[in-house]
Amino acid sequence: MGHIETIYGCMFAGKTTELIRRVEGKNVLAFKPKLDNRYSTGHIVSHNGETLKAVLIDRAEEIMDHVNGKAEYIAIDEVQFLNSIGSVCRQLANQGYKVVCAGLDLDFRGEPFPPMPYLVAVSHSVTHLRAKCVCCGKPATRTQRLIDGQPAHVDDPVIMVGADDLYEPRCVDCHEVRGVRKKMF
Ligand SMILES: [Zn+2]
Repeated sequence: MGHIETIYGCMFAGKTTELIRRVEGKNVLAFKPKLDNRYSTGHIVSHNGETLKAVLIDRAEEIMDHVNGKAEYIAIDEVQFLNSIGSVCRQLANQGYKVVCAGLDLDFRGEPFPPMPYLVAVSHSVTHLRAKCVCCGKPATRTQRLIDGQPAHVDDPVIMVGADDLYEPRCVDCHEVRGVRKKMF
């Protein structure tokens, strides 16, 4: 029987590490969107340095061209950038695949990435991972975006792939977005 597992949370919450752990030693076919090229091409890489060989795709539908009935598991990282990932995961689960997804639920403003609410709703199991707030140490659910050390503005573009110097985990209280008059919890 197929199923969909989704791991979500802010940056530095350990999503990719958990994704790799769940499919380690399994017969797995892995995918990730092309735009995420922080570390390498052709691999899913966690902040801790674990790796999993992956097919790079532009759109979620391309996954269907690569599956061939041989893999038991399908692992997909950074799913927040794949707009129809939810419906593709349902097709995969209907074909008997065990699908494990990992991705950011919220963007730097604290707004949901468009595919995530649908994906979470159709998942058979969901895991919300939290990081530790760099300001106060409480559990972090938000990704703070910093540009030249200052909180990013609400009108800045959403997608900008970066590393530790640009993003950090914060709790809701410590999360800051410039240009927002009233904070959204
Ligand atoms: Zn905090």
